[in-house]
Amino acid sequence: MRLVIMLMAVAPFGVFCLMATLFTNVGLGAIADLFKYFMTVVIVLVVHFLFTYGLVVRFMAKLNPVTFYKRFAPVMAYAFSTSSSNATLPVTLETVEHRLGVKNEIASFTVPLGATINMDGTAIMQGVATVFIAQAYNIDISMTGYLMVVLTATLASIGAAGVPGVGLITLALVLQQVGLPVEGIALIIGVDRLLDMMRTAVNVTGDAAVSTVVARSEDKFDFEVFEAEQSS
Ligand code: ASP
Repeated sequence: MRLVIMLMAVAPFGVFCLMATLFTNVGLGAIADLFKYFMTVVIVLVVHFLFTYGLVVRFMAKLNPVTFYKRFAPVMAYAFSTSSSNATLPVTLETVEHRLGVKNEIASFTVPLGATINMDGTAIMQGVATVFIAQAYNIDISMTGYLMVVLTATLASIGAAGVPGVGLITLALVLQQVGLPVEGIALIIGVDRLLDMMRTAVNVTGDAAVSTVVARSEDKFDFEVFEAEQSS
């Protein structure tokens, strides 16, 4: 974390220099492209958040997704403001146990494991970012390249620690794997903080959704807690 904080402190100067070179080469059109990148990541995150997790909770945990989202909302807000799955861990654990009804023997395993390796939001950002950088540099990464992006983005997101900005650092692995310039990260660094906030909220929601599925399948789910909350 210390290293990331130090890098973040000097990043604006480095980014300014890299952006200056880029804009002299490709012009201001790059800003419009950056906006498209930003919106693409946001839309995919929202779709994943609502549909993938919604369907998982509905059909695998057999619970009402609306109730799930309502109960879990304070954790999403916490994750959004800290941009850290790890910092949110105590709140996630407390909520999954005492507001969603997952028993401690399941939650104490699934939630910390999820906070460490489950980073769907990060993988989504890395996938979109790689395509964006390939297009910005006009490099064709071919179909095999795209498949490689799926694989390495999944691995890089598993390897990413649950602290702010790390997804952007492990993105370097994905870029290198498909032969894209690592400096491409500078193109997106300016808008990454806001995306980091959103993807962290998505990441922690995934941990909770999967915890409910495991708890239901192991019969370690307390409906009274889930239902009791409904009236509050
Ligand atoms: N901030 C993210 C998390 O803690 C990781 C990242 O994508 O940078 O879940």
